Amino acid sequence: MNLILLFENDVISRDVVRLQGRRREHMLQVLKATAGDQVLVGMLNGLVGKGTITDITADTLTMELRLDRQPPAPLPVTLVLALPRPKMLKRVLFAASSMGVKRLYLINSFRVEKSFWKSPLLSVERMHEYLLLGLEQAKDTVVPEVLLRPQFRPFVEDELPAIMEDSPAFVAHPGAEEPCPRDMKRYVILAIGPEGGFISYEIGKLASIGFIPVSLGERPLRVETSVPALLARIF
Ligand code: SAH
Repeated sequence: MNLILLFENDVISRDVVRLQGRRREHMLQVLKATAGDQVLVGMLNGLVGKGTITDITADTLTMELRLDRQPPAPLPVTLVLALPRPKMLKRVLFAASSMGVKRLYLINSFRVEKSFWKSPLLSVERMHEYLLLGLEQAKDTVVPEVLLRPQFRPFVEDELPAIMEDSPAFVAHPGAEEPCPRDMKRYVILAIGPEGGFISYEIGKLASIGFIPVSLGERPLRVETSVPALLARIF
C-alpha cells in the first residue's frame, strides 16, 4: 500500500477522517506510524495529498487531510479482454489497475469456459477489492470501470465500433505477422485473448471492424504476463 485510499464515509468533519480495520492496521503495523506522522492518502476518485495522524485509539485512527494534487495520468487505453479464469482475473485486475487502465471490457470468446461467467468474483464489490489494491499500489485514486459482455458477436458488431471511434485498435495474437507497436502517443483499443487464444473466426470478426492482429514474438505468454507486457510495450 503506497497510498491509503479514503472513502466519503471515512470523513467525520471537514478535512478529518477516521479509519478502522485494514488501513489502520497497515498504518500501525507496516508503516509503524505514530501520532504526528504524515502518510500519503487519496480520496476515492479524487485528489491525493498528505494525512497527518492526530489520534490513535484501540480501534480507530484519525487524520487531518491536505489533499492538493491530481492522481497520476491514466493510460490512454481501453482493454478488451477475454474473461480469464478467476485466479488469473484477480491478478489481471490488480495489474491493469496499477498500470493506469481506466476502462476494461471482459468479453466472451469461444475458448472462455462457461463456468467463468458464474464466478462470484464478477460482482462489482469483489472486483473492486483487486482494483483498489492496484490503485493503492500505484498512488492512484480513480477506479477503473469494468464492463461485462458475455456475448462476443453482438458486442463486436454492435458496440465495439462506437467504442473504437477512430482510435487505432490492436488484437494481441501470438502468430500475427505485424509486430506489436511501441511508443503510441494516441488512445488505443487493445484486445487480448483467452488462455487458448482467440479462434480464427474471432480474429476475423475483429479484423473486419478494423483491429490489427499484432504479436510480441513467438512465445505465447500467459494472460497475466501478456497484459503488463503489451501495455509496457505499447506505451
Ligand atoms: N495458446 C494460445 C496463446 C494464448 S495466450 C496460442 O498459442 O495462440 C493468451 C492471450 O495472450 C492471447 O490470445 C494473446 O492475446 C496474448 N498473447 C500471449 N502471448 C502473446 C504474444 N507472444 N504475442 C501477442 N499476444 C500474446
